[in-house]
Amino acid sequence: MSTDGEVRRIAGRMYEAEAVLDKARQDLDERRQELSEALGKMLNVGSDYIELGGWACETSPTGQCVYNRGKDPALDFCLFCGQPDERK
Ligand SMILES: [Zn+2]
Repeated sequence: MSTDGEVRRIAGRMYEAEAVLDKARQDLDERRQELSEALGKMLNVGSDYIELGGWACETSPTGQCVYNRGKDPALDFCLFCGQPDERK
């Protein structure tokens, strides 16, 4: 049987972990936005149109494919290697 104190301690640790995760998510969003802005300036594409793909890309400075969602909404051509986002 768990005591009230044990449950409170575990709950406290869970809330601490949630706070760490929230901060990490916020940092990730900020870095992603920063990267989109830098890529947008480099490629002369509005940062809102930059789409970070998930495929490894040797010619991309991010190491992954990057798309222009404005001109290429289907994400058919990586701006660096020309490969589509959807592959079989
Ligand atoms: Zn690519």
